Amino acid sequence: MKLTTNYNDNNYDIFVEYNVLNKDYDFNYYDKRIALIDESVYRLHQQKIDLFLNKHSIFKLLIPGGEQVKTMHHYSTVVEKLLSMHVTRHSCLFAIGGGATGDFTGFVAATLLRGIHFIQVPTTILAHDASIGGKTGINASSGKNLIGAFKRPDMVLYDLDFLETLSQSEKLSGFAEIIKHVLLNANGHISKSETLLEIMHDVKDEVCLSELHAIDKWITFGIQTKMKVVHDDEFESGVRKFLNFGHTFGHAIEFHHKLPHGIAVMHGMIYALLLSDVTESDIMSLMRWMHRLGLKKLAYDNFDIYYELMRQDKKNEANEINFVLYYENNGYKVEQVDVKRLRKAFERLRKLEG
Ligand code: NAD
Ligand code: ZN
Repeated sequence: MKLTTNYNDNNYDIFVEYNVLNKDYDFNYYDKRIALIDESVYRLHQQKIDLFLNKHSIFKLLIPGGEQVKTMHHYSTVVEKLLSMHVTRHSCLFAIGGGATGDFTGFVAATLLRGIHFIQVPTTILAHDASIGGKTGINASSGKNLIGAFKRPDMVLYDLDFLETLSQSEKLSGFAEIIKHVLLNANGHISKSETLLEIMHDVKDEVCLSELHAIDKWITFGIQTKMKVVHDDEFESGVRKFLNFGHTFGHAIEFHHKLPHGIAVMHGMIYALLLSDVTESDIMSLMRWMHRLGLKKLAYDNFDIYYELMRQDKKNEANEINFVLYYENNGYKVEQVDVKRLRKAFERLRKLEG
């Protein structure tokens, strides 16, 4: 399946398929081709990756797996290494790995020589989100993704064969962002969990998820939703903010409980719905389905801990905490929520999930 972005210029193709790496591409336009590869992914898929690299004369640079690469230290090491290899503005980096590898490589590509080319080769379900939309970045010691740039890739090669080696929790984490995209799309009946469950009936439990039932369809759906939103608002002044649904509380949970991103966002979406005008029985059936998919109950800590973490979120303005909320009649809305309301919803969440 080939999707293409719909900007006025600089559009790029997104190929989503099994074994898409093995198809024919012409990368001769680029004077140097260098792949930055998550070392864990390389270990698991060496044969497949080497075949691709050899076929297109792409040089290989292994980088630390996952989130740990998104630091100033690794940024500086990799940039110096690339400069010593005499890259030019006609060179191209290939990001082979999950969202962290894509964010890191994209940021290197955005800043090196004021911008060189890059191609995303995502290897996680979650990266259906991260590889689209052009946000790149690394972490600062004071917070996630605080150093970054907007940079569109030249192409996205999404080879679904990679997904088979994901752990069950990485599958669930990635699928959470797909659920978010479906919720954002199902505007008008988000709260009717029945409807949502009907739409997503082919992934009814943990076994379906582990066997990656219909995953190509859901990844394509997620990409199309994200493409539409970022097309309408590339630089996040309007509707792109809705993509933050579930993330304000989710980020606090992710940080405090050290959970995979999407799993934290699942808890965050339930919390955001509790702040919205959705009925408790609808929220309950959504939550029960998430538990059937493998979401574990969380032993919540004191509200004040999460509150402090939410206050640090960079999406806030003027010290108020911003939430993406859903209203039956008006759809999504970004709203400042005061501490009293936050605390009350938290107590309900603790009761529901407990
Ligand atoms: P990740 O890259 O950290 O991958 C998660 C883990 O899975 C890592 O340990 C990695 O080594 C491993 N892994 C990757 N592919 C694998 C495979 N095929 N088989 C087995 N293991 C594999 O992260 P992610 O979950 O893909 O994405 C999260 C990152 O994406 C975060 O850094 C987040 O900030 C970023 N993100 C960015 C955007 C954006 O718009 N730029 C959007 C969402 C998330
Ligand atoms: Zn997310």
